[in-house]
Amino acid sequence: MRILCFDIGGTFIKYGLCDENFNLLEKDKIPTLAENGGQSIIERVIEIIEQYDSIDRVAVSTAGQVDSENGIVVYSTDNIPYYTGMRVKSLIENKTGIPTFVENDVNSAALGEAHFGAAKGVSDFICLTLGTGIGGAIFLNNKLYKGSASSAGELGHMIIHSGGKQCTCGGEGCYECYASASALIKAVNKVSPVELNAFQIFEKENIEKPEIRSEIDKWIDEIIVGLVNIIYIFNPSMIVLGGGIMNEDYIIELIDRKIYTRLMDNFKNVKIVRPKLGNDAGMIGAAYEASKL
Ligand SMILES: [Zn+2]
Repeated sequence: MRILCFDIGGTFIKYGLCDENFNLLEKDKIPTLAENGGQSIIERVIEIIEQYDSIDRVAVSTAGQVDSENGIVVYSTDNIPYYTGMRVKSLIENKTGIPTFVENDVNSAALGEAHFGAAKGVSDFICLTLGTGIGGAIFLNNKLYKGSASSAGELGHMIIHSGGKQCTCGGEGCYECYASASALIKAVNKVSPVELNAFQIFEKENIEKPEIRSEIDKWIDEIIVGLVNIIYIFNPSMIVLGGGIMNEDYIIELIDRKIYTRLMDNFKNVKIVRPKLGNDAGMIGAAYEASKL
């Protein structure tokens, strides 16, 4: 079976061909040109599909909340304008005749990790991705939990500080305002004399400065607050904590040292791990579901 996979983000549309063993071959990417709107994105995806021969399935992992039964983007922020309501599955199927599966990108990555990665064989786990915001996916009883309107898992918008910082969602005090990678970068650059990016923050010369180290440790405490809430709600046996910033060992080591002291004994079976599939998790997870169509 040949599955053509897409990962539609705010900056790039990545794509690749998946073989029957779910290995991704011939990977490539084009700019999303999100400002041209959702319709234009799907038209360009269809153009790419038409360049390939004998494709059996199309798998789409995309930004936005997705009704995956019907392959419709039910909500998207203005990162991709005019994407809300886009009937991605039927647009692609009507034009190409190829059965298509569509799912939200964090959910797709969770599916990838569940079937081939860090959470292989784990029945109850949560994925959190720390980036510009915080993405979440909830995997319970061996399947994704989608909620009543296909939108469950917005863990970045749990409110952890009443009356706190203004969030892009319109709320205040959301988890991602305090615990995302962007939140750390903002906090550190308030105390650093030179502008630092996420990678530079963890370089020896910077992390050893007490004022920077203190911001990092405060940020990790915020991450832990959210994790403890999530663990008490879902009692998962694993949390897969991803995002580029998680490559820094310091973060996961400190979380691991601190979190168990904050949990009731019967929740301490939870393991905090990093993802295994990296940036391809979403495409591989969506491909796995597409193969079952
Ligand atoms: Zn929010």
